[in-house]
Formats: sequence, structure tokens, C-alpha cells
Amino acid sequence: MDTPKKADSAGLSRREVLKLQGLALGGLAVGGCVPDGNCPDLDPIACPDVQSGSANRNTYFRAMRSFCLDSEPLAADEMRITFLGSWFSPRISQAANSIFVEVGNALGQSDQFVFDCGTGVMAKYNAMGIPASKMTKIFLTHLHGDHMSDLMHIYCFGPSADRKSPLYVWGPKSSDFQYTDLAGNASGPYSDGTAAYCQLLREAARWHTESFSFQTTAFTDDYIRRNQLTPGWTCPHATPSAPPAGKDGYDLVAFELDWTKEGFDENGQPVSNNVAYYNPASGVKITHFPAVHARQGAISYKLEWNGLSMIFTGDTKPNYHVVRQATNGVDVLIHEMTPPPEIWVEKFTGLQEGDAGYDLVYADLNRVQQSSHTESKAYGYVLSLLSKAPRLAVGTHFPAEDDTIYSALEDLRVWYPSGDVVIASDLMVIKVAAGNVDVARAVVSDYTWTPSAPLPSATYDPPKYWTWETNDDGSYVLDNGGNKIPVGDPYAQLYPGADIIPQSLWDI
Ligand SMILES: [Zn+2]
Ligand SMILES: [Zn+2]
Repeated sequence: MDTPKKADSAGLSRREVLKLQGLALGGLAVGGCVPDGNCPDLDPIACPDVQSGSANRNTYFRAMRSFCLDSEPLAADEMRITFLGSWFSPRISQAANSIFVEVGNALGQSDQFVFDCGTGVMAKYNAMGIPASKMTKIFLTHLHGDHMSDLMHIYCFGPSADRKSPLYVWGPKSSDFQYTDLAGNASGPYSDGTAAYCQLLREAARWHTESFSFQTTAFTDDYIRRNQLTPGWTCPHATPSAPPAGKDGYDLVAFELDWTKEGFDENGQPVSNNVAYYNPASGVKITHFPAVHARQGAISYKLEWNGLSMIFTGDTKPNYHVVRQATNGVDVLIHEMTPPPEIWVEKFTGLQEGDAGYDLVYADLNRVQQSSHTESKAYGYVLSLLSKAPRLAVGTHFPAEDDTIYSALEDLRVWYPSGDVVIASDLMVIKVAAGNVDVARAVVSDYTWTPSAPLPSATYDPPKYWTWETNDDGSYVLDNGGNKIPVGDPYAQLYPGADIIPQSLWDI
């Protein structure tokens, strides 16, 4: 069996070999065209029936000013909100739900947060150049699949990139819901809270985390101490109430929040029983309050920092909890919003009113909305109840395209005739500062690799599956102190009888 060699062993790099061989490969390409300068220009609209029409474009979003990743770094006094997912059923234009909130270092440290992480959002996080090391704190509004599906990817691949620290997840405690059906059968209460979810996810990912544990997954204690990497934040009303001692990238730590708390007592006086997160180093405080959605136990979040604030409702019916939280003015109110049920019927099934089966589908989808969601007109009504309008109201969880946006805005304006409103799409960026709220459309590459922040001086604990590093001649590599160096052993977990084709045969 081959043994691991030093990375700098001699020979042409793969890249050099590919370069040399590329020109000779044209005749072998099937279907595509090897990029050697002789490829034809491609028609941008090859299938006009699929790619044109008001259901297949979002002029509203396209018209926003462009945001270029490298030219607008986060300012010290800026809060930035980026949409990585903005609908429930993932499609090329919109993944399921997630926003990324960053604050600058005006009060000391900068800080950043992921709110929800539904299906498909990781592609958008990569495109936005957001490294795993900035996705360590996940705040879930509820445990519907379109709000947590990509947690698996974030968890599994963070330690392979630059998150060599635990993943922390905040979310509601168990719903404690019990029910008796028509036949008298009782169901619940189930362990359906965030802690149980994370514990089971951690176990479900065991094959992954062991298999990748020939990589480094934790900083050394000395590096953590020298760089003061121990979390300084607290979770005053979460369970457990303090950050744990674990330091490994595959540690998955849940903080459960009491979804009944709102931050007011029975007399309507403010109390601090709903704080999910407080970081004295960055000055960020995140509180939570009840959302009304499908099943008891969903929550909304409010983030406050340096005189700025934003609310992210997650999924909810229109409710007075959010009115109380927003009525004294927030900078950005991000509220879910949905088209009326007749639009859902048409879009999901193609049925029109009067068609066979229409009434049945309508009744079913209307029940979904009744249990769970806020029509755009109702969102306008919520906004009309606020004593002080938000500087910007955002509608999200919405299928944003030309044939839905304008009617939604019309409905919303019935109750909220003025005041800045925007409908979210993936890669929308909101820059918030004391004097300005700016909305833009990020322009990204479709081909971004996993971004990582380089840490040239970092030192890591030895991998779990390790061997001693060797030179090409098989002798041990020694460090400056004359000690052998443990490195990851990619062969450690392979079946000894695995019939491997040796590299020496194919790497000519
Ligand atoms: Zn949802
Ligand atoms: Zn939901």
C-alpha cells in the first residue's frame, strides 16, 4: 500500500499536465467544446418557451443596482443583510430560506449570523464568498425542511473548510403538543425541539464525520488561547445556558429557546426573558418572540446592534407579537409574505377556477395558508399597525417573478400606501447604516469553489485517523525540535482488502 508523502514531492503538477494536454483533447469532446479558443458563440436563449415570459424573469430584481463582492467591504458601522434563500420550493432563481447578517466592528468585534438554512442555500453562500468560519452561529425559526435542510451540509463540510470550531444552533424547544384524532388515538408530545434535532443529525452524520476525520478538525489549545477564540457570548435564556467546553469542528451544540416568551410581562412591561444571544465584544443582542405557524413552537428573531435593528419573522401568520416588537421602529422588518391561494393553485397545478378538481386543491392550499402564512395584503395591514414605520419593509418566502411581484405590491399598498418596501430574491443585499439603507443585487460567479479564509499561522490538533509524516524515501519528517509529525492518514479507514489500482500505474 502507498504511504502518504510530503506534498512537495517532485514532478509536474496536475495543472501543468492539464494545460499541456488540453489542446490535444478537442477531437475527444462529446457534446461540449474544449475551451481552446475555437468554441462557437452560444445562443443565450436556446429554448424561448422555457426562458421567456413574465413567469420566467424578475425584472424588478434585475433592475436593482449591482453589488460587487470585492468592492464594498463591510464598514465598521454597517449592518449587512444578504438573502441566500427566499422561497420554500427551491428553484434556480431562489433557494429555500436563509439570510446572513453581518455587523461591523464599530463596538469592538465584528459578528455574523445565519438565520435559517433551507434547501439549496449553500450554493448561494459559496457564491457570496461566505466562508464556513463565518457560519458558526445558526438561528432557526422552526424546523420545517425549507428552513433547516442545508444544516446537514453546513455541519458536515465546515470542518473540511475553515470552521475548526463547534457549530452552534439556536432554535425553539419542543412544541410539547399533544393531540387526539377522530378515532381517539393520542399523539405526542414528541421530542421535536432543536436539541433533539441536532442530536439526531449529529448521529445521522456519523459516517461522514468519521470518514473525514483524517483531516484536522480542531485548533490546538495553545492557538485558541493565543488568539482568544473561546466564545465570549452568552445565551441568558437558552438551555444549556453557557457555551460548552467542546472545541471540535464536529461538535454540534444546540441552545433551545422557550417559544412562549416575548419579552413582555402580563402587564405589557418589557422584561428580558427572551434573550437568545448577547455578545459584549460585538455588542449584538438577539431576542426571540412567538411566531404563529402550522404548529405551536415557531419563533421570530430580532437583532439589535449599535442603534440598528432588524426583525426576521420566519414563517408566520399575521400576529400582534411582531407588531409589539416592531411598533417603535426597526430599521429592517423582514416578514414572510405569500400570494393568495388562487395563485398557488394555478402555479402548482395549472388549474383555473371552474376546472375539475380546482375546488379541492383550492380548499387544501387555503388550509395551508390558514394555518401558516401571511398574504401580501395582510403584511400591508401589519405594517399599517406600527406606530413608527420600519426604514425598510421586506417581503420574503415569496416566489418573486414579474407575474407575482406587481400584484403583491398592489395588495400590500392597500394598507401601506407609502414607506419603503422591497421583495426579496436570492443574492439581494441590504446595507444598513445610521444615515442610509441601501438595497442591491449581488453579481456573483456560478462557478465559485468553497471559500475559505486563509489562516497561515494556525496550528491544529492531530487528526483522529493519523500516521507519521514521511519523506519520499520513507524516513520520518521531523519538526524543528526533532519530533515526528502526526498527519492525517487517508488509508486508515479503508478496508484492507480494498483492491486499489496503484497510482504508479495510471499517473504516467
Ligand atoms: Zn417556510
Ligand atoms: Zn414553515
